[in-house]
Amino acid sequence: MRTHELVLEWIEKQLSSGELSLGGRLPGERSMAEQLQVSRTSVREAVRILEAMGVVRAGVGSGKDAGTIVIAEPGSALGSTLRLHVATRHLPVADIVETRVLLESWAVERAQAGAPELAEAGMLLDQMDDATDIDAFLALDAHFHVALAQSAGNVVVSAMMASLRGAIENYAGELTGNLPDWTATSRRLREEHRAILAAVSANDGGKAAALVAAHIRGFYREAGVDSDHTLK
Ligand SMILES: [Zn+2]
Repeated sequence: MRTHELVLEWIEKQLSSGELSLGGRLPGERSMAEQLQVSRTSVREAVRILEAMGVVRAGVGSGKDAGTIVIAEPGSALGSTLRLHVATRHLPVADIVETRVLLESWAVERAQAGAPELAEAGMLLDQMDDATDIDAFLALDAHFHVALAQSAGNVVVSAMMASLRGAIENYAGELTGNLPDWTATSRRLREEHRAILAAVSANDGGKAAALVAAHIRGFYREAGVDSDHTLK
């Protein structure tokens, strides 16, 4: 085990045992280094990793109150981690499609009519009506789905959807070449989006969930790709 991993492990234990909790302060760099018999560089490295994960914030306060405190910002860190992994592109499209069905049908079932994200989703649909090229249409389409999922108010689901946004746009762009008639498909997609939003706005979660699942799978099926197709 590398020495900074010892520090990470120690901090994790402190957190899970409750010795250290939200808003609490990590011991000073020197004191942790002495206690764990590691260099201050290792302590600093561990703190940087935890900072990137959204678990601590370093350099809070000044003088004798200066330190590193425990925070909880899982959304942004989870989002960027997932986004980076999705960006490596070794993901079968079929798996992205099924993950979308899982997240989005769950989200629209719980979305509350009147959530601000739904107003945004409606505006995106208006913009899609005016979109003249395929890429602009698909970018708005992916954005619409993220806004829709966010309306459920679950931070983790929202972060996961945001991280998938690039991949969604990407595979849709790749697959349009397989579609027999883009004009017909885009007309159908527009109608399906309106129907999904209408169901959510009417608080008909069950219908919205069924519609969004059929919408996501329908596009993929129409493009006729095999199940182990990966993003290029
Ligand atoms: Zn769509």
